Amino acid sequence: MREGGRILAAAMAEIEAKVAPGVTTNELDALFAQRLAEAGAEASFKGYRGFPASICASPNEVIVHGIPDDRGLAEGDIVSIDCGVYFKGFHTDSAWTFAVGEVAPEVQKLLDVTRSSLEAAISQCSVTARLGDVGYAVERVVIPEGYSLVREYAGHGVGRSLHEEPWVPNYGPPGRRDKLRPGMTIAIEPMVNAGGEATETLADNWTVVTADRSLSAHFEHTVAITEEGPLVLTSL
Ligand code: MG
Ligand code: MG
Repeated sequence: MREGGRILAAAMAEIEAKVAPGVTTNELDALFAQRLAEAGAEASFKGYRGFPASICASPNEVIVHGIPDDRGLAEGDIVSIDCGVYFKGFHTDSAWTFAVGEVAPEVQKLLDVTRSSLEAAISQCSVTARLGDVGYAVERVVIPEGYSLVREYAGHGVGRSLHEEPWVPNYGPPGRRDKLRPGMTIAIEPMVNAGGEATETLADNWTVVTADRSLSAHFEHTVAITEEGPLVLTSL
Protein backbone atom coordinates (compact mmCIF):
# COMPACT_ATOMS: atom_id res chain seq x y z
CA MET A 1 0.00 0.00 0.00
CA ARG A 2 2.98 2.28 0.59
CA GLU A 3 4.09 1.72 -2.98
CA GLY A 4 0.62 2.16 -4.42
CA GLY A 5 0.11 5.29 -2.34
CA ARG A 6 3.33 6.73 -3.69
CA ILE A 7 2.23 6.07 -7.28
CA LEU A 8 -1.06 7.80 -6.49
CA ALA A 9 0.62 10.79 -4.85
CA ALA A 10 3.02 11.25 -7.76
CA ALA A 11 0.15 11.16 -10.27
CA MET A 12 -1.86 13.60 -8.14
CA ALA A 13 1.10 16.01 -8.09
CA GLU A 14 1.13 15.93 -11.88
CA ILE A 15 -2.60 16.58 -11.99
CA GLU A 16 -2.10 19.55 -9.66
CA ALA A 17 0.57 20.96 -11.97
CA LYS A 18 -1.73 20.57 -14.98
CA VAL A 19 -4.90 22.12 -13.50
CA ALA A 20 -5.43 25.49 -15.23
CA PRO A 21 -8.13 27.44 -17.05
CA GLY A 22 -9.06 25.68 -20.31
CA VAL A 23 -7.82 22.24 -19.26
CA THR A 24 -10.55 19.57 -19.36
CA THR A 25 -11.16 16.92 -16.75
CA ASN A 26 -10.91 14.30 -19.51
CA GLU A 27 -7.31 15.44 -19.99
CA LEU A 28 -6.66 15.01 -16.26
CA ASP A 29 -8.26 11.56 -16.42
CA ALA A 30 -6.02 10.59 -19.36
CA LEU A 31 -2.91 11.84 -17.52
CA PHE A 32 -3.78 9.76 -14.46
CA ALA A 33 -4.48 6.62 -16.53
CA GLN A 34 -1.20 7.09 -18.41
CA ARG A 35 0.90 7.44 -15.24
CA LEU A 36 -0.68 4.36 -13.69
CA ALA A 37 -0.09 2.31 -16.83
CA GLU A 38 3.59 3.33 -16.76
CA ALA A 39 3.82 2.28 -13.11
CA GLY A 40 2.10 -1.07 -13.71
CA ALA A 41 -0.86 -0.07 -11.54
CA GLU A 42 -4.59 0.07 -12.18
CA ALA A 43 -7.16 2.77 -11.47
CA SER A 44 -9.39 1.51 -8.66
CA PHE A 45 -12.41 3.50 -9.85
CA LYS A 46 -12.39 2.42 -13.51
CA GLY A 47 -15.35 0.09 -13.89
CA TYR A 48 -16.17 0.23 -10.16
CA ARG A 49 -19.93 -0.37 -10.18
CA GLY A 50 -19.73 0.70 -13.82
CA PHE A 51 -17.91 4.02 -13.25
CA PRO A 52 -16.68 5.08 -16.72
CA ALA A 53 -13.40 6.86 -15.88
CA SER A 54 -10.14 6.51 -13.93
CA ILE A 55 -10.70 9.55 -11.71
CA CYS A 56 -13.70 11.35 -10.28
CA ALA A 57 -13.59 15.03 -11.22
CA SER A 58 -16.02 17.20 -9.26
CA PRO A 59 -16.05 20.93 -10.07
CA ASN A 60 -17.59 23.66 -7.92
CA GLU A 61 -20.98 22.51 -6.53
CA VAL A 62 -20.18 18.85 -7.26
CA ILE A 63 -19.35 17.12 -3.99
CA VAL A 64 -18.15 13.72 -5.23
CA HIS A 65 -18.38 11.17 -8.07
CA GLY A 66 -18.27 13.68 -10.95
CA ILE A 67 -17.54 12.11 -14.34
CA PRO A 68 -14.68 13.70 -16.33
CA ASP A 69 -15.79 15.52 -19.48
CA ASP A 70 -14.64 17.84 -22.26
CA ARG A 71 -15.77 21.13 -20.75
CA GLY A 72 -12.73 23.23 -19.94
CA LEU A 73 -12.15 24.40 -16.38
CA ALA A 74 -12.62 28.14 -15.91
CA GLU A 75 -10.56 30.70 -14.02
CA GLY A 76 -11.91 30.92 -10.45
CA ASP A 77 -13.38 27.39 -10.43
CA ILE A 78 -12.45 24.73 -7.94
CA VAL A 79 -12.20 21.07 -8.90
CA SER A 80 -11.99 18.03 -6.64
CA ILE A 81 -10.01 15.11 -8.01
CA ASP A 82 -10.64 11.79 -6.28
CA CYS A 83 -8.70 8.74 -7.35
CA GLY A 84 -7.67 5.27 -6.30
CA VAL A 85 -4.71 3.08 -7.20
CA TYR A 86 -4.75 -0.73 -7.23
CA PHE A 87 -1.22 -2.08 -6.98
CA LYS A 88 0.09 -5.50 -5.91
CA GLY A 89 -3.29 -6.54 -4.52
CA PHE A 90 -4.10 -3.42 -2.50
CA HIS A 91 -5.99 -0.18 -3.03
CA THR A 92 -5.14 3.32 -1.85
CA ASP A 93 -7.54 6.26 -2.13
CA SER A 94 -6.99 10.03 -2.07
CA ALA A 95 -8.70 13.26 -3.07
CA TRP A 96 -7.68 16.89 -3.37
CA THR A 97 -9.53 20.06 -4.31
CA PHE A 98 -7.58 22.42 -6.53
CA ALA A 99 -8.11 26.08 -7.31
CA VAL A 100 -8.22 26.83 -11.04
CA GLY A 101 -6.13 29.96 -11.53
CA GLU A 102 -7.00 32.64 -9.00
CA VAL A 103 -9.99 32.01 -6.75
CA ALA A 104 -11.81 34.45 -4.49
CA PRO A 105 -10.48 34.65 -0.89
CA GLU A 106 -13.65 33.06 0.51
CA VAL A 107 -13.22 30.14 -1.89
CA GLN A 108 -9.59 29.68 -0.87
CA LYS A 109 -10.75 29.67 2.75
CA LEU A 110 -13.15 26.78 2.06
CA LEU A 111 -10.22 24.79 0.63
CA ASP A 112 -7.91 25.69 3.52
CA VAL A 113 -10.47 24.80 6.20
CA THR A 114 -11.33 21.46 4.55
CA ARG A 115 -7.66 20.55 4.22
CA SER A 116 -7.03 21.56 7.86
CA SER A 117 -9.92 19.37 8.99
CA LEU A 118 -8.30 16.37 7.28
CA GLU A 119 -4.99 17.16 8.97
CA ALA A 120 -6.74 17.46 12.34
CA ALA A 121 -8.41 14.09 11.81
CA ILE A 122 -5.13 12.42 10.85
CA SER A 123 -3.45 13.81 13.96
CA GLN A 124 -6.07 11.95 16.05
CA CYS A 125 -5.11 8.57 14.58
CA SER A 126 -3.33 6.97 17.54
CA VAL A 127 -3.96 3.46 18.88
CA THR A 128 -5.74 4.95 21.90
CA ALA A 129 -8.32 6.78 19.75
CA ARG A 130 -11.74 5.75 18.46
CA LEU A 131 -13.31 6.56 15.11
CA GLY A 132 -15.60 9.05 16.84
CA ASP A 133 -12.51 11.03 17.86
CA VAL A 134 -11.37 11.17 14.24
CA GLY A 135 -14.77 12.40 13.02
CA TYR A 136 -15.06 14.88 15.86
CA ALA A 137 -11.70 16.40 14.89
CA VAL A 138 -13.13 17.21 11.46
CA GLU A 139 -16.33 18.65 12.90
CA ARG A 140 -14.44 20.83 15.37
CA VAL A 141 -12.49 22.53 12.57
CA VAL A 142 -15.33 22.90 10.05
CA ILE A 143 -18.49 23.82 11.96
CA PRO A 144 -17.16 26.99 13.72
CA GLU A 145 -16.38 28.42 10.25
CA GLY A 146 -20.07 28.29 9.32
CA TYR A 147 -19.66 25.50 6.75
CA SER A 148 -21.54 22.22 6.75
CA LEU A 149 -20.28 18.63 6.61
CA VAL A 150 -21.68 16.05 4.25
CA ARG A 151 -23.05 13.18 6.36
CA GLU A 152 -24.38 10.86 3.66
CA TYR A 153 -20.89 9.99 2.45
CA ALA A 154 -17.91 9.13 4.61
CA GLY A 155 -14.44 7.70 4.82
CA HIS A 156 -13.92 3.95 5.00
CA GLY A 157 -11.49 1.12 5.52
CA VAL A 158 -9.32 0.49 2.45
CA GLY A 159 -7.02 -2.41 1.54
CA ARG A 160 -7.79 -5.57 -0.42
CA SER A 161 -11.04 -3.83 -1.35
CA LEU A 162 -11.51 -0.16 -2.17
CA HIS A 163 -14.29 0.20 0.40
CA GLU A 164 -14.12 -1.91 3.55
CA GLU A 165 -15.26 -1.73 7.13
CA PRO A 166 -15.20 0.46 9.14
CA TRP A 167 -17.33 3.45 8.10
CA VAL A 168 -15.36 6.63 8.96
CA PRO A 169 -17.84 9.51 9.27
CA ASN A 170 -16.77 13.14 9.51
CA TYR A 171 -18.48 13.84 12.81
CA GLY A 172 -18.41 12.74 16.45
CA PRO A 173 -19.24 12.19 19.14
CA PRO A 174 -15.72 11.67 20.51
CA GLY A 175 -15.01 8.50 22.48
CA ARG A 176 -17.47 6.44 20.42
CA ARG A 177 -17.33 3.80 17.68
CA ASP A 178 -14.52 1.32 16.92
CA LYS A 179 -11.08 1.65 18.48
CA LEU A 180 -8.22 2.23 16.09
CA ARG A 181 -5.85 -0.73 15.96
CA PRO A 182 -2.31 -1.04 14.63
CA GLY A 183 -2.36 -2.29 11.05
CA MET A 184 -5.72 -0.72 10.20
CA THR A 185 -5.73 1.30 6.99
CA ILE A 186 -8.48 3.88 6.61
CA ALA A 187 -9.41 6.56 4.11
CA ILE A 188 -10.37 9.79 5.87
CA GLU A 189 -12.23 12.19 3.61
CA PRO A 190 -14.01 15.32 4.81
CA MET A 191 -16.48 16.76 2.29
CA VAL A 192 -17.30 20.35 3.25
CA ASN A 193 -20.05 22.53 1.77
CA ALA A 194 -20.02 26.32 1.85
CA GLY A 195 -23.81 26.21 2.22
CA GLY A 196 -26.15 23.54 3.57
CA GLU A 197 -25.35 19.85 4.07
CA ALA A 198 -28.13 18.46 1.83
CA THR A 199 -27.01 16.59 -1.29
CA GLU A 200 -28.64 15.63 -4.57
CA THR A 201 -27.66 13.02 -7.15
CA LEU A 202 -27.98 14.07 -10.79
CA ALA A 203 -29.69 12.09 -13.57
CA ASP A 204 -26.43 10.31 -14.54
CA ASN A 205 -26.77 8.48 -11.17
CA TRP A 206 -23.19 9.38 -10.25
CA THR A 207 -22.72 13.11 -9.85
CA VAL A 208 -23.49 14.23 -6.30
CA VAL A 209 -24.05 17.99 -5.91
CA THR A 210 -24.98 20.29 -3.06
CA ALA A 211 -28.76 20.69 -3.04
CA ASP A 212 -28.34 24.49 -2.78
CA ARG A 213 -25.56 24.47 -5.44
CA SER A 214 -23.07 25.98 -3.00
CA LEU A 215 -19.39 25.10 -3.45
CA SER A 216 -18.02 21.90 -1.96
CA ALA A 217 -14.46 20.82 -1.16
CA HIS A 218 -13.05 17.33 -0.57
CA PHE A 219 -9.68 16.21 0.77
CA GLU A 220 -8.76 12.58 1.43
CA HIS A 221 -5.77 10.51 2.46
CA THR A 222 -5.26 6.82 3.08
CA VAL A 223 -3.75 6.47 6.56
CA ALA A 224 -2.15 3.46 8.25
CA ILE A 225 -2.53 3.18 12.02
CA THR A 226 0.71 2.20 13.74
CA GLU A 227 1.89 2.01 17.37
CA GLU A 228 4.08 5.01 16.56
CA GLY A 229 1.18 7.05 15.18
CA PRO A 230 -0.48 7.72 11.83
CA LEU A 231 1.34 7.03 8.58
CA VAL A 232 -0.08 8.89 5.56
CA LEU A 233 0.29 6.49 2.63
CA THR A 234 -0.91 8.81 -0.15
CA SER A 235 1.55 11.69 0.17
CA LEU A 236 5.06 12.00 -1.24
MG1 MG B 1 -11.50 8.77 -2.76
MG1 MG C 1 -12.63 7.14 -0.32
